[in-house]
Amino acid sequence: MYREQIDAYIDAHKEQLIDDVMKLVRIDSQRTQEEPGKPYGEGPAEVLEAAKELMDSYGFAVRNYENRVVTGDFNEKEKQLDILAHLDVVPVTKDWTVTEPFKPVIRDGKIYGRGTADDKGPAMAALYAMKAIKDLGIELDYNVRLILGSDEECGSSDLVYYYGIEKEAPMSFTPDADYPVINIEKGHFSKKFHAAFEDCEALPKIVKIQGGDKVNVVPANAKAVILGLEEQAALDAAKKAENETKVKFTVTKNQEEIVITAKGVAGHASTPEVGNSALTALLQLLAGLEAAPSQGFDRIRALAELFPHNDYYGKGMGVDMEDEISGKLTMNLGVFQYSPTSLSGQFDSRVPICGTEENVTRVGKKNMEEAGLTMEEGPMTPPHHVPGDSVFVQTLLESYETYTGIKGKPLAIGGGTYVHGLERGVAFGCMVPEVDNHMHGDNEFMDIDMLVTSTKIFADVIVKLCKK
Ligand SMILES: [Zn+2]
Repeated sequence: MYREQIDAYIDAHKEQLIDDVMKLVRIDSQRTQEEPGKPYGEGPAEVLEAAKELMDSYGFAVRNYENRVVTGDFNEKEKQLDILAHLDVVPVTKDWTVTEPFKPVIRDGKIYGRGTADDKGPAMAALYAMKAIKDLGIELDYNVRLILGSDEECGSSDLVYYYGIEKEAPMSFTPDADYPVINIEKGHFSKKFHAAFEDCEALPKIVKIQGGDKVNVVPANAKAVILGLEEQAALDAAKKAENETKVKFTVTKNQEEIVITAKGVAGHASTPEVGNSALTALLQLLAGLEAAPSQGFDRIRALAELFPHNDYYGKGMGVDMEDEISGKLTMNLGVFQYSPTSLSGQFDSRVPICGTEENVTRVGKKNMEEAGLTMEEGPMTPPHHVPGDSVFVQTLLESYETYTGIKGKPLAIGGGTYVHGLERGVAFGCMVPEVDNHMHGDNEFMDIDMLVTSTKIFADVIVKLCKK
């Protein structure tokens, strides 16, 4: 019954909303060196202060948590809903063409500038949703708190600090990802491993392997150096492996050394099946060579069995599993290096909600040990799940449908959002799959219609959840 009033208010305050987004975008809030009282540097502290001033001037009770987080409370009643957004931004390149990253402009119904979509625009949408309700004199029976952090892009230590002081609300959402609602985030099982062994003089022998740069990326490049191997044997093995794996191999002879380079296709660890790992293909090739027996070569062959090429789902490690709502476990061997006396590497596995310490961490550790590899200690980051049929998720979906006309259903993703660590948090907005807003890239923008619609959706949600 408040909907028409709220919508009219938001339409009437669109220019002011845009101005406030641009005000925050003008502050370069990339994380820099820590300074006294400014744990993430000058920019993040400055943007938090600017947001605090806005919230204060709109009548909300504000608090600054040591320049890591600022909050604005709607009222002093029992807390029902937290909205979490962040005001730090990722680094910029010099390749922006529409405008400079921190000089926002409006073109064709879009605001361009670093942070417009991630996450200053959505943060201001949440603030204006609260402001609309307040200015219209609509009373809420419960509190809604806007929590604005400044370290989302570099590890979310802002929230660790905040939740060391404050309790989690019964419901939380972050407009820092996609519509409709992300209610399932897979767990994260990413571990380093290593082994040490005796050098062995016998030839042919593998003296070096190097593959991958980042653990969360499917390696597109890998390389091995072998001593005492016939060039023809290397060429034959490369041809066979290329047929089997579709990874491109190049063999070169450098005096006594044979160098094999592998070129695959990169991909994100949460969707490894879109890539083609140069590293696992190279391990498969090497494991099939007629190398002299050695402890090191045994480890390479064991590793090729733990991480078989084209096994994106952890079968080799014995941890393959899936469930209906969150899908399959994924596995990526992201980085690896080998020398005649040691090896080390790290894998990145995304775990569906059926995964536990028992059936993932312990099984992986045991199977690595049997292969002569030592996996680093410690639990995995457990999966995150807020039931899709809960009142909270259903309310979000209903408001989304009302304003977009699109039937919404909950989503499961492999990556982690700002609320991964919360028991009752979901991601809600503001991206839609049809629009690529260049988040983290050049010429990032926020679509103004989407900004306004999101503000209305958030206001609708707040009223439904915080008014009896
Ligand atoms: Zn973000």
